[in-house]
Amino acid sequence: MTLISIMIEVLHVDAFEDNYIWLIRSPDDASKVAIVDPGDEMPVYAALKKHALTPLAILCTHHHGDHIGGIGDILSHYPIPVFGPAQERIPGVTHRLKQGDPVDLHGLGLHFEVLDVPGHTLGHIAYYGHGMLFGGDTLFSAGCGRLFEGTAEQMSASLNKLRALPNDTQVYCAHEYTADNLRFALELEPNNPDLLAYIKKVEELRRARRPTLPTSINAEKSFNPFLRSTEPTVKQAAETHCGHALHSPEEVFAEIRRWKDRY
Ligand code: ZN
Ligand code: FE
Repeated sequence: MTLISIMIEVLHVDAFEDNYIWLIRSPDDASKVAIVDPGDEMPVYAALKKHALTPLAILCTHHHGDHIGGIGDILSHYPIPVFGPAQERIPGVTHRLKQGDPVDLHGLGLHFEVLDVPGHTLGHIAYYGHGMLFGGDTLFSAGCGRLFEGTAEQMSASLNKLRALPNDTQVYCAHEYTADNLRFALELEPNNPDLLAYIKKVEELRRARRPTLPTSINAEKSFNPFLRSTEPTVKQAAETHCGHALHSPEEVFAEIRRWKDRY
């Protein structure tokens, strides 16, 4: 048996200050795309026009305005299916999804599986397929989403779920927060060689005004403090910061999430 992995092309659309709306190109017909988390319709229209693309589906990860604000207007131009979390109220959603549900975008030749990843919001979902993860505001490069609705335990479990994906999974986050996140990560692990190398790479990318994404699960494991709460260095830094012993990776995670909130 031969495994042929087809490279899927993903375009980024800049929106607001630092959001990315992702356009996933069909491997069968490069002029057809799925739109991920369209918080704003205008930059999407500009990208569709520039690249002569037709959208065939919308995927959304959670109910925040910067991820769904453009759906209504896009639907008035393109009556296409909208996939979203079963647990959240999002106007326009036609397919309500939960853990394990398949997302078969037949017209695009794209297939994803749904992961429940509560924490940033309670109903937050992620889409995994073709070696790619569209994780919304759950996992960021060198960081993770804020806990607006869920608990630290829920977010920690969600990140562990993402951590268990194949190492080479390409992670498409919904925000360009990498440089900021790295400043915090460096505070915890000033001697982590992978972190230091990545900081250099990110500085170069940002100087060239290029996205730091996608990242990979493997890379994130080596420098993202929120995936490293079992590391002695991270535990030590968290204990020093809060001034008492932390007894589990979940406690370490909760402490560094609190720390980052005020950083
Ligand atoms: Zn959000
Ligand atoms: Fe967001």
